Amino acid sequence: MHWAMNWPLSSNARRNAHRSLSGGPPPNGSGPAGFKFLADAAQVCCNFAMKCSYHPGYQVTLSPGHPFPMSKYPLLREQLLAEGVVTAGDLVEPEPLDRETLDLVHTAEYLNKLESSGLSAAEQRRLGMPWSDSLWLRSRLASGGTLLAARAALDSGLSGNLAGGTHHAFADHGEGFCVLNDVALAVAKLRVEGAIERAAIIDLDVHQGNGTAAISQVINTFQQTGVPEPMSCFLLGSGLLGLGLLRKRSQRS
Ligand SMILES: [Zn+2]
Repeated sequence: MHWAMNWPLSSNARRNAHRSLSGGPPPNGSGPAGFKFLADAAQVCCNFAMKCSYHPGYQVTLSPGHPFPMSKYPLLREQLLAEGVVTAGDLVEPEPLDRETLDLVHTAEYLNKLESSGLSAAEQRRLGMPWSDSLWLRSRLASGGTLLAARAALDSGLSGNLAGGTHHAFADHGEGFCVLNDVALAVAKLRVEGAIERAAIIDLDVHQGNGTAAISQVINTFQQTGVPEPMSCFLLGSGLLGLGLLRKRSQRS
């Protein structure tokens, strides 16, 4: 799961954020800064309407006793609806990412294997899940959800995906229940489209996003070859829960 947020928030959003945490307006009309502000904003993200990506296909059937808690996706949806964090109208269904987009980050050899159920037994053990048609679709749906959330955050300021954050996926293989690196894919796609220039990924999982770290080299290549302007945009979180920032090119200071 990850969140994406446009930066900066409006003054109203900052006031709401501070009011929610402290019970009163920020002193001198100014809100908290830096990561404190990020934490504040994350805590109050439920206080304003936002689009959240969700698809029933996020959940696939695994063998009984499998350690991955696949049921968390529909449960999270139910909980957010029950608490009023989102409404049914806030939930948007993503499309699975297409091959052209997947090619921006992942190697052709790896994608060909995934498309043709060609993962070896050793590769599936490393992934931690058996390959299946539904798992392959799920991986593309979850990545599509992250891209959709990123677009929504660019448009409206804040968004989320109720799956994703698969930060152990490398360009050429999967690990730790992570097939595709959704955050890297979203960054790459937005960059080649010219919607953003650079991205900062803030990973709040309990362990390192080794796949994202390795893939960042690919993203840097995009920067050198495809986007001539300096950084103005931050994007996305990763891991079990992430925070992110998005800033439109027009908001560059
Ligand atoms: Zn992890």
